[in-house]
Amino acid sequence: MSLREECGVAGVWDHPGAGGQVINSLYALQHRGQESAGLAVTDGRQVRGHKGMGLVAEVFSRDRFRELAGAAAIGHVRYSTTGASLLTNAQPLVVRYHRGGLALAHNGNLVNARRLRERLEEEGSIFQTTSDTEVVAHLIARAGDRDLPEAAGWALEQVEGAYALLMLSEDRLLAARDPAGIRPLSIGRLGDTVVFASETCALDALGAVFWRDVAPGEMVVAGREGLVSYRVFPPRPTNLCAFEFIYFARPDSDLDGMNVHAVRKELGRALFQEAPVEADLVTGVPDSSISAAAGYAEAAGIPYELGLVKNRYIGRTFIQPGQDKRSQGVRLKLNALRKVLEGRRVVLVDDSIVRGTTSRHIVQLLRDSGAREVHLRISSPPYRYPCFYGIDTSATSELVAAGRQVEDIRQLVGADSLAFLSSAGLLEVIGTDRCMACFTGEYPVRIPAGTGKHSLEERVC
Ligand code: SF4
Repeated sequence: MSLREECGVAGVWDHPGAGGQVINSLYALQHRGQESAGLAVTDGRQVRGHKGMGLVAEVFSRDRFRELAGAAAIGHVRYSTTGASLLTNAQPLVVRYHRGGLALAHNGNLVNARRLRERLEEEGSIFQTTSDTEVVAHLIARAGDRDLPEAAGWALEQVEGAYALLMLSEDRLLAARDPAGIRPLSIGRLGDTVVFASETCALDALGAVFWRDVAPGEMVVAGREGLVSYRVFPPRPTNLCAFEFIYFARPDSDLDGMNVHAVRKELGRALFQEAPVEADLVTGVPDSSISAAAGYAEAAGIPYELGLVKNRYIGRTFIQPGQDKRSQGVRLKLNALRKVLEGRRVVLVDDSIVRGTTSRHIVQLLRDSGAREVHLRISSPPYRYPCFYGIDTSATSELVAAGRQVEDIRQLVGADSLAFLSSAGLLEVIGTDRCMACFTGEYPVRIPAGTGKHSLEERVC
């Protein structure tokens, strides 16, 4: 697997140490983005922020977050999807406009950001970043006399794409989800404190109790009046990203009420039903494929073994974007257990094949460590179409399954056999109304021509 997660967001309302609480939840969301981290806090008088490049632990020293005292805060971990990997594009984005301060933290991708930005620039707006999120800030600033919830709703009616979006002013915290619900956003409670987070594992990290998800097209506003729900868009079926189940989310998170580990185990079971093979052991690519491998092994009655060990201490060498650094990262990331693999017929379960380089390397690693046969089983369908909703695969040319048959891919990755879970098998486990666009090419939100990771840079350079 060499997809990169998008971003993670967290927000805390009505807690004396809101900034520290948000930082703790960002630790739980670190898997969703490792390039930059940031925090914005309000003490009721002003909104202040701190952000930096690197992991949460690198960005927030103890002294720094003591300076950011306040009862409400939002935070963000980022892997760049639109906009280059630069500090100016790190979030939360903190701006000042005629109504005061505003911080924004966004997970997802706005597919019409380029068109909106062109229009706003023609009308006089000056942008400071190449991130799509800044478009929302400009729209809110132009909303005239509307108060913040109304202004935010008016802005969101103009943007298209995927978002789990947190916004913080001096006296309110707003949490909005796109009308298709492509990115997840949950609400938890900790006494009177309200917590928002991309995943429920971040609620658990604070000891907060899951209350409910922000509904697709809904904006929940925390303020002096308590929690108020605004319906920005009418209800429609949720198109939650299938890849959140397959790979992105942490196994201890729940999505749409389903535990991610349990779902992945079921995917492994379904994969065995569709593509059984005689073998001596099953192993999974750590960490995201362990659950699916366990499900496959259980269904097959073949022992699950630890065949691969992940080096957890590589740090940022691995997680920076760019193909060169990715290839280097693959070589450093995994090691195989020769004593487990030698002379054995191995079922290797992975959650997906995107560019193919990682799979080829791992299959070779198992062979070099003595595996007699390597049967690759993938717990998702072939990834053939780019994602425009906040995942780092914008070009079809990068996708090994685009335009290739399974046998061609098998030869490329060097496995003895290869099988993918079918789309029907996947939907049977995760439920029907899901975004499956990277497997099917059917995008739940229309993609304007020219949309891509650096579409805004192309515009401004
Ligand atoms: S295209 Fe794929 S990765 Fe992107 S949101 Fe849809 S299911 Fe998720």
